[in-house]
Amino acid sequence: MIFAGIQKSSLVDYPGLVSCVLFVPGCNYDCFFCHNRTLFDGPHELLNLEKIRAFLKKRIGLLDAVVVTGGEPTLQPDLVDTLRGIHAMGYRVKLDTNGSNPDAVRKALQSGECSYFAVDYKAPAARYTEICGPAADAGKVQKTIGLLQNGGVPFEVRTTVLPQLQESDLLQMASELPVVPRWTLNRYRRPEQYKPCDEQRVDAIPWTQEQVDGFARQMLTAQPNMNLRN
Ligand code: SF4
Repeated sequence: MIFAGIQKSSLVDYPGLVSCVLFVPGCNYDCFFCHNRTLFDGPHELLNLEKIRAFLKKRIGLLDAVVVTGGEPTLQPDLVDTLRGIHAMGYRVKLDTNGSNPDAVRKALQSGECSYFAVDYKAPAARYTEICGPAADAGKVQKTIGLLQNGGVPFEVRTTVLPQLQESDLLQMASELPVVPRWTLNRYRRPEQYKPCDEQRVDAIPWTQEQVDGFARQMLTAQPNMNLRN
């Protein structure tokens, strides 16, 4: 498995635990608002795997968990072996995915190496390609979420509330999924790097945190486990 970035310590990427975050390069989606575009557009330096292993060994007892994120980790063929290696050091392992590869998520689930999953549900199904690019397929994401629903491992769904999403879109999204154990809405932040053709979209005025919180409350009827801030 290859990694292109590391955040040595995070308090927010694994709920309730101190984690190290490893970023893989490459993604099969093309979300205009992506904050990790440098990981798949243009040259990026790959990290030395031995150094990562040595770092994780040194932090045993200081860090609780490792989060494997991207880019899109499920594109990497040796994902499960890598998760196993991290788990074997005693870490809890969280896998972040865009949900596009249900087969890879099934393998990760069956391996028993992951203790938490996070899946993005980025738009109503009918707007998925508009928001995430031509390769995006909401049906596959829904299949991934269905697998996790029956997988016996904690997981959460996450959505960045883009300026382009209206309350009606969020209510539609809430109705498109089974009741999930946790669903977090995140406020949109303008990315530093984006494609010139997306300038207008990235510059749109974000919803305020209060508005995002209001959307989450509106979604409670269909999704009672919304992760509310207050
Ligand atoms: S799925 Fe995630 S990493 Fe991939 S393009 Fe979209 S925001 Fe970026």
